[in-house]
Amino acid sequence: MDKVRVRFAPSPTGTLHIGSARTALYNYLFARHHQGTFVLRIEDTDVKRSRREYEESIVRDLHWLGLSADEGPDAGGDHGPYRQSERGQLYEDGVQRLLETGHAYHCFCTQERLDRLKEEQLARGEMPKYDRLCLGIPPEVVAERLAAGEEATVRFKVPAGDWPFRDLIHGPISFSAEVIGDFIIKRTDGGYAYNYAVVIDDAGMKITHVIRGEDHITNTARQLMLYEALGENAPEYGHHSLIHGADGGKLSKRHGATSIGEFRDMGYLAPAVVNYLALLSWSSGDEREKFTLEELVEAFDMSRVSKSPAIFDIDKLNWLNGLYIRELPVEELAELIRPYLHEAGIELAEAQRPVVTAALQANLVILEDAPEFAQLFVEEMDPAESAPADKLRSPGVAAVMQIMHEARAARKAEFLSLDEGHELMKEVGARAKEQGLKGKAVFMPLRVALTGRESGPELFYLVSGLPRGRILERVQSARRVAESAG
Ligand code: GLU
Repeated sequence: MDKVRVRFAPSPTGTLHIGSARTALYNYLFARHHQGTFVLRIEDTDVKRSRREYEESIVRDLHWLGLSADEGPDAGGDHGPYRQSERGQLYEDGVQRLLETGHAYHCFCTQERLDRLKEEQLARGEMPKYDRLCLGIPPEVVAERLAAGEEATVRFKVPAGDWPFRDLIHGPISFSAEVIGDFIIKRTDGGYAYNYAVVIDDAGMKITHVIRGEDHITNTARQLMLYEALGENAPEYGHHSLIHGADGGKLSKRHGATSIGEFRDMGYLAPAVVNYLALLSWSSGDEREKFTLEELVEAFDMSRVSKSPAIFDIDKLNWLNGLYIRELPVEELAELIRPYLHEAGIELAEAQRPVVTAALQANLVILEDAPEFAQLFVEEMDPAESAPADKLRSPGVAAVMQIMHEARAARKAEFLSLDEGHELMKEVGARAKEQGLKGKAVFMPLRVALTGRESGPELFYLVSGLPRGRILERVQSARRVAESAG
């Protein structure tokens, strides 16, 4: 096999959609697995909708995912330019070649004629397709009409026959030229058609494998015909399924977030998104589901990409994100959640940060939820007024509060390290035991006293991450509730 060269060819008409990100990922994995090259080509011929800032945001998102291209508008390379808008001369050269070799011809038909033709064909129950009226115009007449400034398109002369190919994902597929009319490759406005430009680009960039969404399957026959007419070797093609929502419809805004940027902003981690996208239509063949990008490169195999529609399953993405969050070093997670906390008006003290971060690390699903978990460590609260205050009205609670008060008062630091917190809880447990109190009878009242809630992080997090003053106040207040209950 030639050195593998694949490309990701987004149109910069919006930000990176997760469906496109998956296309980029499969190309990237295929390239890396075969020690090949991953090319980024920007398909910006739709001047009205293409924007440079979208291109930049796509490049940034790819970079964030870890899928930076080896060649592209930003990375450079020997097969550029990498923006279609800068490749006009190459497209024009190709059109001239096809005209000279008789594979293409000028068409002067007006839109009115074409519309009429289509109507008539439909009325006769025929499939609408160009009737080749202009194919018969003698070359000198064509030259005269062009010289006179008459508008013309250039059409590709579709060769008859069947166009079979072996799709890397779908297996053998064949299209009959019967159903394909001579299609326009150059428009009257001077623009070039997608199916044509993409062939000039893929051929010029020496692309060996085209991996893209299933919505492009029907374009493949036209592209293969163009390769043959241009005398170029066609690449291999693999068309992966598109992503659908749980209701079966194509994934769209109504299913929630769809762009990589939205997922990033909610606090999904790049390795989790990459892992999830890979699993959407690919499996390693065993039960294993967690893969880093490097592991995916190693394991990825096109023959294990399924052709069934991929159903987007947010629960699975959440599960993976949680796994990756739990693997992060605490300092790194602390930095990642800082902006979310800031946004929610939560500023943790330096000594409090590692404790609070460690406390929420166990249960956090997406970074955006961090404030909800951290709230506990910063809010004002008086256990006497909290919902489960009745939990404080049991025998022994006053004694437990007294023990906690003494233990915490003896430690002068505003916050404790987790080790100190563990040690404090050991001491509290041991002293309570001396008074015949243990288990839930100790821990539930303490939890209610410290947080006003019946569930939450383990106590050693609370005693380490809550400010000393608040702990002392709260256990005092809880003690008063206990004593007032007699
Ligand atoms: N620009 C096309 C798209 O975004 C790429 C088509 C292709 O990969 O050939 O769908």
